[in-house]
Amino acid sequence: MAYTEPAYAKLNLTLDILGRREDGYHDMRMVMQSIDLQDLITFTPQAEPGFTLTTNLPYLPRDGGNIAVKAANQFFQDNRLPVLGMSIDIKKNIPVCAGMAGGSSDGAAVLRLLRRLCLPELPQGQLEETGGRVGSDVPYCVRGGTALAEGRGEALTDLPPLPPCWIAVCKPPCSISTPELFAQVRVKRLRCHPDTAGMLEALSSGDLEGIAHRLYNVFEDILPRRYAQVFEIKAALLNMGAMAASMTGSGPTVFGLFPEREPAARAVQALSERFPATFLCRPAPACFPRQP
Ligand code: ATP
Repeated sequence: MAYTEPAYAKLNLTLDILGRREDGYHDMRMVMQSIDLQDLITFTPQAEPGFTLTTNLPYLPRDGGNIAVKAANQFFQDNRLPVLGMSIDIKKNIPVCAGMAGGSSDGAAVLRLLRRLCLPELPQGQLEETGGRVGSDVPYCVRGGTALAEGRGEALTDLPPLPPCWIAVCKPPCSISTPELFAQVRVKRLRCHPDTAGMLEALSSGDLEGIAHRLYNVFEDILPRRYAQVFEIKAALLNMGAMAASMTGSGPTVFGLFPEREPAARAVQALSERFPATFLCRPAPACFPRQP
């Protein structure tokens, strides 16, 4: 018997950095959105306790370095359960090192699957806490949907869903190192910040125009010049009719919002001739229904 769980990619509708913390992390304020671009996690029970991992991406770690394995170990440790025997297969569709939290999302899907199989009564909050010990973005990925993430990313508030729309998502072939980009942040020198309050209001009133108007990621302002493709893709999306376009996370993936399918599909078609990692996506709902 095999068990499967989707792991959704995330986009940042906003990304703000508020300050540097004493623990070395930064205080963040981000509006996060799941999209239907997804990896697929499959569990098959095996007799030997512990985990064996397979994946269609040969260069991903297959040992304890894989976030999926880290999450599985953390789940059994936090809940004081004997480790089960499990083969974990990850069908990777989310580009790696792309700012779409692909690894965190795989870890989160593993946590949801383990809860389903071993501890269905475990409250969502506790599962998210376990996620927080695996990585900063994991608690959000456990929950999914539209949410405000603060602190390191673990303090979550559910938000009204992004209204129906189409999203063209394009990852240029370069990779950006997240720690390297954070190292360049001088918070006092960030001149512009997203209008997060305005974004929350626009979400509350289902105002797609207002949401598009407020997409903003402060990392774009400190992006080294060698990542010019990010701005080329943004310009291309806007030229092809996107209401707005922004980079997600620490990049380099860029996305554009469209109210209708046709222009979004045309933009995806045009961009994919140059950038094969281009996807036509829709918003995805929360993985967990709201819980007390
Ligand atoms: P974020 O948006 O959270 O910064 P990202 O999209 O930039 O994430 P990921 O693709 O989540 O980056 O992770 C990148 C790093 O994590 C790579 O070094 C990769 O080898 C490692 N990694 C470990 N497990 C996984 C996994 N299951 N999927 C993807 N990357 C993984």
